[in-house]
Amino acid sequence: MIPPPFEYLRPTSIAEAISFLQQYGDEAKILSGGQSLIPMMKLRLARPAYLIDINRIAGLSYVKEDDGHLKIGGLTREAELEDSPIVHAKFPILIDTEHVIADPQVRNLATVAGNLAHGDPANDHPATMMALGAKVVATGSKGERVIPVDDFFVSVFTTALQPDEIVTEIRIPLPPPRSGGAYFKLERKVGDFATAAVAAQVTLDADGNCRQAGIALTNVGPTPVRAKNAEAFLRGKKLDDANIRQAAQLAADEAQPSSDLRGPAEYKKGLVKELAARALTRAAERASK
Ligand SMILES: Cc1cc2nc3c(=O)[nH]c(=O)nc-3n(C[C@H](O)[C@H](O)[C@H](O)COP(=O)(O)OP(=O)(O)OC[C@H]3O[C@@H](n4cnc5c(N)ncnc54)[C@H](O)[C@@H]3O)c2cc1C
Repeated sequence: MIPPPFEYLRPTSIAEAISFLQQYGDEAKILSGGQSLIPMMKLRLARPAYLIDINRIAGLSYVKEDDGHLKIGGLTREAELEDSPIVHAKFPILIDTEHVIADPQVRNLATVAGNLAHGDPANDHPATMMALGAKVVATGSKGERVIPVDDFFVSVFTTALQPDEIVTEIRIPLPPPRSGGAYFKLERKVGDFATAAVAAQVTLDADGNCRQAGIALTNVGPTPVRAKNAEAFLRGKKLDDANIRQAAQLAADEAQPSSDLRGPAEYKKGLVKELAARALTRAAERASK
């Protein structure tokens, strides 16, 4: 289908983009990779009167290590993250995630910021970013604010972004030594959204016990779900089979799936249990290397 008519705006600076957002309010939408927005417009699920294309804004596309963080620019494509040597060296969980997002064509255009800003609980980056303790940098007419990712997702397709704010950066703390993470997803076919998926990031102490665990779930609730009870259970414990199984059960208990074409709710809870066990096992192996 052809999208409804819209006015196309092409700012060359963040300030100009923000002024358009202020001017057109609810009638405007930011366009970055267009891999979620354009399909929604074609289906007439979104009808923005103004499209503010931010792709011509210079300096927003980067992946770099700075000030104890991995910093991902607001226009960084999925493919750029996937190819980044820093990400390969320090964030295997992000590489796992990249490999199961859509397909290479989509990843060439889709941006990491767009994946978060869209607020779709089926998207894969939200849970990974939650497990990693990321922060979202939003820039608007009042300046810049840093939003912990736990506060970013409000409900289905709704985030904490104000109408005049743009995601300009994502910051992920660099993992301490003895850290590892993994992302496990079940999809009906390659390129599909998750039936369910689990992100796990762990840090071990000098004795090999779990010092810190970040566990988050994809597409089993209106927002990504942090498995707080599972995280708390693992703190200070050995990441052996029995403890991982117990944590995986707690994560499944925290999931809030609904029954849909991808399966009944009970099946999805069972899936979370299995995927959590696999993600934690792989994360622990990576942390021990
Ligand atoms: C065939 C197909 C399969 C897919 N499969 C998956 C999958 O398996 N897993 C997955 O995670 N995703 C999947 N996606 C979604 C894809 O990853 C999206 O492109 C991505 O989620 C949105 O990024 P984008 O840059 O394309 O955003 P756009 O489509 O340009 O925008 C999406 C929304 O976010 C807003 N937005 C975008 N950037 C910003 C910004 N910087 N600041 C503020 N608001 C912004 C827009 O206004 C819009 O509301 C799939 C997409 C397709 C087409």
